[in-house]
Amino acid sequence: MKNLLLLFLLLVFMVACKQENTEIKTAHNAPEQQDFAIIIHGGAGTILKENMTDSLEAAYKAKLSEAIKTGYEILKNGGTSLEAVQRTINIMEDSPLFNSAKGAVFNHEGVNELDASIMDGATLNAGAIAGVTNVKNPINLAYEVMTNSEHVLLSGKGAETFAAEKGIELVDPSYFFTQNRYDALQRILEREKNDSITAASTFIDPFIKDEKFGTVGCVALDKNGNLAAGTSTGGMTNKRYNRIGDSPIIGSGTYANNATCGVSSTGWGEYFIRGQVAYDISAQMEYAGKSLKDATHNVIQEKLTKLGGTGGIVALDHYGNPSMEFNTEGMYRAYMNDQGELTLGIYGENED
Ligand code: ASP
Repeated sequence: MKNLLLLFLLLVFMVACKQENTEIKTAHNAPEQQDFAIIIHGGAGTILKENMTDSLEAAYKAKLSEAIKTGYEILKNGGTSLEAVQRTINIMEDSPLFNSAKGAVFNHEGVNELDASIMDGATLNAGAIAGVTNVKNPINLAYEVMTNSEHVLLSGKGAETFAAEKGIELVDPSYFFTQNRYDALQRILEREKNDSITAASTFIDPFIKDEKFGTVGCVALDKNGNLAAGTSTGGMTNKRYNRIGDSPIIGSGTYANNATCGVSSTGWGEYFIRGQVAYDISAQMEYAGKSLKDATHNVIQEKLTKLGGTGGIVALDHYGNPSMEFNTEGMYRAYMNDQGELTLGIYGENED
């Protein structure tokens, strides 16, 4: 009788242990849910350590940290992902380091034409502007289009009129002048006189392809589980004919959907438009049940690369897990989780 009782107790103990193991395994497999999270990029391209001075590298790192920490604080204090995206991008737009607003590249005529977009993952509402020349912070105008118009994408003079009507901060176009971006345009124009090169050569000509880095983007997840994404750029140096890249195109440069992920792109815009890069990542998660990691790897390393496009993305899934995928030598990038842990990178995976 005593033996039977012991045997019974042993059996109960074994069943309990098995259950505990199963629970541990399940917990281990479940994606970790961040309370909130934020991720940014400051452009992708041939960014090599040997071409970087220590002081410039330090300046990039400091500005990326300042920007992401601004968004982090907003999210930590219960602010919305849309607000975090806007304010974080504002910091990079106001810096001459990035090809966005203050540091924007020049078009063929020597004008800075700015593109931006923002998307709300909770409602799938979106706003975008293209080719504006006097708006200090283009991402703010994109937000205004989203929230205070019945449209998604406004361009050129019309977008500028809308900005004036809505009280968006305007500046004289000379505000966007920076000597190094101007010199970059002159180098390309000089070269154009001799050889025949096209705007797309900005990306493939080894002499000039480094003249355009620094589109900026941000994706945030707030405490209410809402994702938002935004992107802001000056486009490509020497662009002509009112060329518009992927940055203001919803589904290419920017996408956010609470059910899947938020994405901001940077790189050779024409390919990101043709590949519908940002939406493709979301669609692979929605329809094929892929993880963010698998979807971003497929879209950037396989599909975009096969098409001949170069660049990268930053993205968050609805758990707050990050992805920073690029097929170029480098991408300015940073991520912060809800614990305030910062991951920051510039060069290829093993170089940082
Ligand atoms: N994607 C931007 C454009 O094509 C440029 C960039 O991200 O570097 O306008």
